[in-house]
Amino acid sequence: MEEKKNTFKNIKNIFGINVFDNKTMKEKISKEGYAEFMKVINEGKDLSSELADEIANAMKDWAIEQGATHYTHWFQPLNENTAEKHDSFIDLDKQGNVILKFSGKNLIKGEADASSFPSGGTRATFEARGYTVWDCTSPAFVKHIKNGSTVLCIPTAFCSYNGEALDKKTPLLRALQVLDKEAMRVLRLLGNKTTKRVDVNLGAEQEYFLIKKEDYNKRKDLVFTGRTLFGAKSPKGQEMDDQYYASIRDCVSAFMNELNYELWKLGITAKTQHNEVAPSQHELAPIYATANIATDHNQLIMEMMKKVADRNGLACILHEKPFKSVNGSGKHNNWSITTDDGINLLKPGKTPRQNKLFLTFFTAVISAVDEYSYLLRLSASHPGNEHRLGKNEAPPAIVSIFVGDMLQEILDQIEKEEIGEDKEKQYLNVGVTTLPKLPQDFSDRNRTSPFAFTGNKFEFRMVGSSASTATPNVIFCTIVAEILSRFADRLEKAEDVDKELAKLISENIKQHKKIIFNGNSYSDEWVKEAKRRGLPNIDNCLDSYGYLTSKESVKLFEKHKVLSRLELQSREEIYYENYAKTIDIEAKTMLLITKTQIVPAVIKYSNRVAESINNISKATGLKATAQIDILRNLTEKLNLLCENIAKLEKLESEAVHIENMKERAFYYRDNVVKVTEDIRELVDYLETITDKRYWPLPSYADILFYD
Ligand code: ADP
Ligand code: MG
Repeated sequence: MEEKKNTFKNIKNIFGINVFDNKTMKEKISKEGYAEFMKVINEGKDLSSELADEIANAMKDWAIEQGATHYTHWFQPLNENTAEKHDSFIDLDKQGNVILKFSGKNLIKGEADASSFPSGGTRATFEARGYTVWDCTSPAFVKHIKNGSTVLCIPTAFCSYNGEALDKKTPLLRALQVLDKEAMRVLRLLGNKTTKRVDVNLGAEQEYFLIKKEDYNKRKDLVFTGRTLFGAKSPKGQEMDDQYYASIRDCVSAFMNELNYELWKLGITAKTQHNEVAPSQHELAPIYATANIATDHNQLIMEMMKKVADRNGLACILHEKPFKSVNGSGKHNNWSITTDDGINLLKPGKTPRQNKLFLTFFTAVISAVDEYSYLLRLSASHPGNEHRLGKNEAPPAIVSIFVGDMLQEILDQIEKEEIGEDKEKQYLNVGVTTLPKLPQDFSDRNRTSPFAFTGNKFEFRMVGSSASTATPNVIFCTIVAEILSRFADRLEKAEDVDKELAKLISENIKQHKKIIFNGNSYSDEWVKEAKRRGLPNIDNCLDSYGYLTSKESVKLFEKHKVLSRLELQSREEIYYENYAKTIDIEAKTMLLITKTQIVPAVIKYSNRVAESINNISKATGLKATAQIDILRNLTEKLNLLCENIAKLEKLESEAVHIENMKERAFYYRDNVVKVTEDIRELVDYLETITDKRYWPLPSYADILFYD
């Protein structure tokens, strides 16, 4: 296919061709209409029904040109996925003739049966009305479905009959609005007159595994749970550090090439790609965008990864811990706060000590993270991520901030109210005269910190690879907005704003410096030190969910109208339900595989060994000691395994009687998980003593080290 050669000229030709972006809209609607639309997205002006009709009509014509027959309101219910219900453009006129129609009403509002989406008790099943509402700040796009129709996808928010958010987008939009409002208050008080809007930017690095489809299909654990529930350690894993940034396999390169192509067409700025730490693990990062668009894009990236993998005979795995003995996958959230007129409020500049804006916003983030660290922990909580956090491959469950030596020095001086001096730019000395002289960065990198300042942005590293970025962004925006609102309240009352600001920054640093830790966050010493400092260490996701409805959270989210008490309660309920269901499915899959594949395989092999024992003694009169030992070992382990299977079955049958979801989730964690771990240990051991030809599952060595 000629067009797939990704030359630079070609990228420019194809970039965004599947998107009805502002540029396309400008070409397709009237000048007045476009000017009005800009006011809607930039100034929050109401959308008139005439303009909605005009845009809808242009969107339909454009989509039909792209081959679309259907449209869908594309939304993000309260699981980590997206949802779509397709409607064709077909309608009948008064005479009964087929016409193609898509009105402003169709564009801005849709009705969807909400009863089959998680709602956490926000509404009873008989009140099933759900509404999808156009998010005009995220552009519509077309999706070409292989061997199917082309669909116009309209990003929407999803809410209940009473207006409660049933999705991830609504609170995100609310939180972004709140951050904008409070940041603008602070900016104005600090004398800024030009900025009109403040945005949170998000650059989400997406890690994933890519394995052969044939291996994937042979492992029902991967198919049903997204991770392997069994698998003995491969003789070689990641210990040689030879995977990270290594040369990329040809088939993976082909996958990346096609993926980039698909993403670029969707207007997604796929930028960086490389091999990650674990074998068969990779990463993709787009160029950052405003958090709402970046969140939509991340959903599309995950969807495209799966689709393109499938087309290439591969399977893309987004679970946080698909393979036990190698690193799992995360999704680093890179955050900055910028103004519409191009100021990065988290950029220290050459003279950070004099950079009022930087110091204000930097301090606000530090204070927010310290005060609400439990909410950030919660935003990375879900069952898959539990296998990663605090396991020496990802940050611990203790939230802390890395700022680096240079900023630490500044913060120390501010706290002591000393006036330090900004240093001359330092240069890297590599000791080779032919190498160019490079200015040194503000700080070294710290790979172990959950929340690291990386020069002009913060990188939140706790989020799991399969999670939507909406939740961490809702939390980040809301907690920072809260601190900014307190700053603004004080500055508004101050006689001398600069003096008050200096006081405010210094007080906040004193109060919140306990969250700063520049050392190794993976170390045991840090766990002890964090405890001494009184930082929360919530080492299991179930223990974090309750914080969502704590007094402080409800106060915070209700004050800023990001989430109501009812919406928070429903989310908490969904978390418990999701946890219980996840472990339930894992347990059931484990039972299926052990009973129908592992146990029969071990019996078969044991029989083979027994036959050999008999044959050898018959043929030689000798005792086949080696085989007898093997058989004894196999039999003992098999007996133990079957005992544990029975135990798990019993626990499973009891779980269904626990009506209360929270109780059920804790029951799974405190009873079921332990038995599944015991079963896994036995099966993994059996794998190492069973003839490979009898073993029913592809091994880790086969899966992770393919050609
Ligand atoms: P790393 O070295 O941390 O792995 P990557 O290049 O993989 O870096 O990813 C960094 C991510 O951070 C990218 O998505 C990039 O666009 C994003 N990023 C860079 N600058 C900013 C910024 N100012 N605000 C938000 N995100 C940013
Ligand atoms: Mg990266």
